[in-house]
Amino acid sequence: AKSCGRGNFQFFSAAMNAATHERLLLENRLWQALEQDEFELYLQAQIDLRSGSVIGAEALLRWHHPELGMVGPDRFIPIAEESGLILPLGDWALQRAVLLLDRWRALGLGHLRLAVNLSARQCHGTGLLPLLDRLLRETGIDPALLELEITETAAMQDPERSRELLQQLRARGIKVAIDDFGTGYSSLSYLKLFELDRIKIDRGFVKDIETDPDDAAIVSATIGLAHALGLEVIAEGVETQAQADFLRGKRCDEAQGYLFARPVTVAEFEVLASTAETV
Ligand code: C2E
Ligand code: CA
Ligand code: CA
Ligand code: CA
Repeated sequence: AKSCGRGNFQFFSAAMNAATHERLLLENRLWQALEQDEFELYLQAQIDLRSGSVIGAEALLRWHHPELGMVGPDRFIPIAEESGLILPLGDWALQRAVLLLDRWRALGLGHLRLAVNLSARQCHGTGLLPLLDRLLRETGIDPALLELEITETAAMQDPERSRELLQQLRARGIKVAIDDFGTGYSSLSYLKLFELDRIKIDRGFVKDIETDPDDAAIVSATIGLAHALGLEVIAEGVETQAQADFLRGKRCDEAQGYLFARPVTVAEFEVLASTAETV
């Protein structure tokens, strides 16, 4: 076996300590954070590529940590998944989202759709449907304005249960999108198994769309496949006008990305959606 130099060992151990330290800082506070109201939903606009108008938003969690400042979901969602906090946190996000849809109706923004991310645990637990039923009943919002995003990977952890859940969601009129499409190393056969409304093309395929012919081919074929199956397509991570033009040329329905809008606070999004009807 190769022996590691002492310097190397120290380097790894220092890096590990920093990572462990942050993890502990996050983990220790995570449960408290929900009670202390430290989470916030940011909203990122979703754009109709044909008209250029804002058709809705994706809700993205943010955590205002008292010591670390604003913490993005990539840093705390995995911990929340492991510890189980993702269940109450996910419920909180869903409730916030449905209340927002209710509020928008009163603000004259009742045409806007709101997409919420579901974690694997939420999909495979038993609390989701009763919660949704209660929220829909209490608010009377149009269920079609609520979209749930589930990753291919989460759905394929238990395909039979996912199939049932997605069917139950769609029976209620709630929209379902497959998130991070093409990144989950699964076969395409699940497209036959699941009832879906939309496919979300992962940012990883969009990034080099102008320079990498393989990515261009994959995106173009995905759009064709989705349409042939009667599904709509949204591309995420659109950062340049050239990417938007390419996608529009391939008849991609919708797009989301920094070119149009970053994730912003609810108040900022409401201004954006009422004023900038055309981007
Ligand atoms: P995601 O669902 O794939 O969300 C899209 C991510 O891409 C967001 O990161 C968004 O800010 C970022 N993004 C959007 N447009 C662009 C762009 O043009 N360029 C680049 N480079 N990035 C862009 P964010 O907000 O950090 O969220 C990361 C992930 O955390 C999400 O990935 C999602 O998997 C997870 N997440 C966020 N909110 C929730 C939630 O409420 N529940 C669950 N279970 N997961 C969530
Ligand atoms: Ca998503
Ligand atoms: Ca995604
Ligand atoms: Ca992604």
